[in-house]
Amino acid sequence: MTPEIHTPVLIVGSGSAGLCAALWLSKFKIPYTILERRDGPLKIGQADGVQTRTVEIFDSFGIAEPLLKEAYHVLEIAFWAPAGAEGKGIKRVRYEADREEGVSHQPHVILNQARLNALMLGQLDLSDGNGKIEYETEVKSVEVDESVQVGDLDAWPVRVEAVRRDGAVRSYRAKYVLGCDGAHSIIRKSLGYKMVGDSSDAVWGVMDIYPRTNFPDIRKKAVVNSSVGNILIIPREGDEMVRFYTELPAGTKVGDVTRERLHDHARKVFAPYEMEFAETAWWSAYSIGQRHADYFEKNLRVFLTGDACHTHSPKAGQGMNVSLQDGHNIGWKLGMVLGGLAKPEILSTYVLEREKTAKELIDFDRGFTKLFSTKYRQEHGVTPEHFAEQFVKAGRYTAGQAVRYDASVFTAPGPGENDKELAANITVGMRFPTAQVVRFADAKAMQLVNGMPATGAWYVVVFAGDVSEEKAAARLKTVSQRLDDTVKHFTPPGADPDSVIDRVLVIAGDRKKVEQEEIPEFFTPMTGRWKLKSLTKVYADDKSYNSGHGHAYESYGVSSRSGAIVVVRPDQYVAKVCQLDQAGDLEDFFKGFLEIGA
Ligand SMILES: Cc1cc2nc3c(=O)[nH]c(=O)nc-3n(C[C@H](O)[C@H](O)[C@H](O)COP(=O)(O)OP(=O)(O)OC[C@H]3O[C@@H](n4cnc5c(N)ncnc54)[C@H](O)[C@@H]3O)c2cc1C
Repeated sequence: MTPEIHTPVLIVGSGSAGLCAALWLSKFKIPYTILERRDGPLKIGQADGVQTRTVEIFDSFGIAEPLLKEAYHVLEIAFWAPAGAEGKGIKRVRYEADREEGVSHQPHVILNQARLNALMLGQLDLSDGNGKIEYETEVKSVEVDESVQVGDLDAWPVRVEAVRRDGAVRSYRAKYVLGCDGAHSIIRKSLGYKMVGDSSDAVWGVMDIYPRTNFPDIRKKAVVNSSVGNILIIPREGDEMVRFYTELPAGTKVGDVTRERLHDHARKVFAPYEMEFAETAWWSAYSIGQRHADYFEKNLRVFLTGDACHTHSPKAGQGMNVSLQDGHNIGWKLGMVLGGLAKPEILSTYVLEREKTAKELIDFDRGFTKLFSTKYRQEHGVTPEHFAEQFVKAGRYTAGQAVRYDASVFTAPGPGENDKELAANITVGMRFPTAQVVRFADAKAMQLVNGMPATGAWYVVVFAGDVSEEKAAARLKTVSQRLDDTVKHFTPPGADPDSVIDRVLVIAGDRKKVEQEEIPEFFTPMTGRWKLKSLTKVYADDKSYNSGHGHAYESYGVSSRSGAIVVVRPDQYVAKVCQLDQAGDLEDFFKGFLEIGA
């Protein structure tokens, strides 16, 4: 028998969820192994819609640039409906903006899932031996020793059996296992968990094609509802390929679907426009039920993510995004726990947050699915205009920006609506919005969130008001002293002062009236290899050269007179909003889940 291989975190599956979790572990320098049954990275196909929230996540990891460069940018949606009284042919009903104003500073884009996975893979630091991917390795089972305490980080309570393609059996021991192994998850099955929800699976046909057509909106996202069926057009990266999604009639079996059948269906939907297929680069038929796993974790040692614990239709382009965001959610929490920075109990927030998100998504998807059904629209008198309105209304949701986490050990709503009084447009439990600011050190106009990259640290964002005024400057001095005491408490000896809790200062007013030496040292800590003064943490809500004024205070709904403190989690969700004179209370807040550094 071969000896067991020990790896602190074992990730089963190198899809969107698994790779995103690995990105965080890589940041925290936590050793992990990914087991993947494929012979290499995903090459083609599957999902393609990248929500604004996912682009923000890529941006925070420093990999948004190639994504934005290569992707198709979705700006407009065209809505088509049956034409004429007899419903023969199709006609355009309206155009709408794809993205509601202010939803995100990032666009909604389309890029092949294989390419997205490749971008994450490229960012994984596999050179230091911390992370490993073993391809051609199929996991067969998982077992958890239930007698081991949640807090026992020295234990290796999870055992995984896998088989290599050459037939060799491998056994692994892990502290934590992530089941990121897709809709047919062996991890879920091995734990005895079931998918609950709708039993009737709709069958979807999808094809990436090079069309020969005179249909005018072929390079736009378009929803085409005809009397013979519906097609969703998603233009693809590059300027020629297009994806068609179509829901096939009830009773269709996946095995009965052929490429020719999908072509034929498309010709009928687009008639009288011509629709021919110069080439079909990829096609697939798959069945989707709206379901979620009955449990998302076992003993806070094994966690299910992505399709392994929720499935839904592809209409709203959620699958890959929500899965990736599951991995994003569990990844930093595991990184903090195994890095000795946070208490293992925080892992229960994964279930609290992502189970709720999955259930909400499934409810949303049910409503959205009905809207797409020709039969439902006819029976309920849904007009083409009403359809388009509902579609647009769902935009914030489909952009991934409607997620709001409930109160937990580190997501703490203020007393009553206090947080809203301090910062009207910042919501505890939702992702921290951005605004343009000017970096104090070099006058660069930039988005504030770009000053808060995904390093694994928490951020304390201090809106200090106009510190060229004596009173505001004195107040900032006191706030800085209190925050400094708090942050030191949780920073391990020898670590950079900003490594666990980082800090960002946003001042209001004319930045030229403030000198660098007036900025408290707390905001310019000595960091990095040469322990240089960090000058990238101070920003002004001021006019910039050539890029206008971001009006950040106004956009966040923070008064420059009273100011505010916003605590932001490593994954950019808002944990807490409080008054400047409550800076001292943050120590108790952090004590609730962070380990003391000393
Ligand atoms: C054929 C197909 C087409 C799809 N098309 C679309 C689409 O057009 N639009 C859309 O929005 N969504 C689509 N989806 C869904 C979307 O791709 C998923 O929601 C998303 O990929 C989920 O990410 P994930 O990381 O949870 O799982 P996946 O991306 O499925 O990754 C799971 C990984 O685990 C590996 N794995 C599975 N079992 C084991 C095992 N026992 N041992 C080791 N490795 C294992 C798999 O090889 C895979 O790499 C499609 C899914 C499929 C399967």
